[in-house]
Amino acid sequence: MFKTILFPVSSNCKIAKINGDAMNDLASKIDGLIRTVPDFPKPGIQFKDITPVLQNGPVFNAIIRALAEKVKSAGTTYIAGIESRGFIFGSALAHELGCGFLLLRKPGKLPWKTLRATYQLEYGSDAIEMHEDAVKSGDKVVIIDDLLATGGTATAAACLLRDAGAEVLDAMFVVELEFLNGRDKLRNAGFPRIDSLLKY
Ligand code: AMP
Repeated sequence: MFKTILFPVSSNCKIAKINGDAMNDLASKIDGLIRTVPDFPKPGIQFKDITPVLQNGPVFNAIIRALAEKVKSAGTTYIAGIESRGFIFGSALAHELGCGFLLLRKPGKLPWKTLRATYQLEYGSDAIEMHEDAVKSGDKVVIIDDLLATGGTATAAACLLRDAGAEVLDAMFVVELEFLNGRDKLRNAGFPRIDSLLKY
């Protein structure tokens, strides 16, 4: 068993501006690439498969730059990615911003002592864990995931981070399923800012 040592770095790098038209253009490109898979992983779920988006280099690159431009909160210490697709966007975003990345993982995956939060998914219930020493009091964290559905996962993530002493800034998503009202749940959970690139 070993202890993970993290080195927080403030983000103050320059990010290319993406204006409103370019953002709309990006949303339609993402929409054109997303594959909607009916009845996965169980009947009634319209699963938004983002793998074709990741395979398109220019669109993947534009997504990361757009997310980075939206993370305006000063002094972000960490980007926190939710397993597993939040890792893909979150680590690229942390790299773009020059700040640290931390992992919110499914139970039993992290090697050190963990904090756990359980929550409801659009399709079932689940739990996420974080190393108990991943953040310290005063750290400022932005949470990233590929998709906002009911908001349960991101709310659980915020609980974990706050319990550990961090300040939760934005919640950012590539896709938002507006009809599931996850944004309201996140507002009630006290997220100062919630943003997504493409809404259905
Ligand atoms: P929720 O906690 O309900 O906001 O669910 C968000 C999490 O579940 C994210 O990690 C998503 O990747 C995943 N998820 C929920 N619904 C879908 C869906 N319809 N398509 C793809 N991923 C989904």
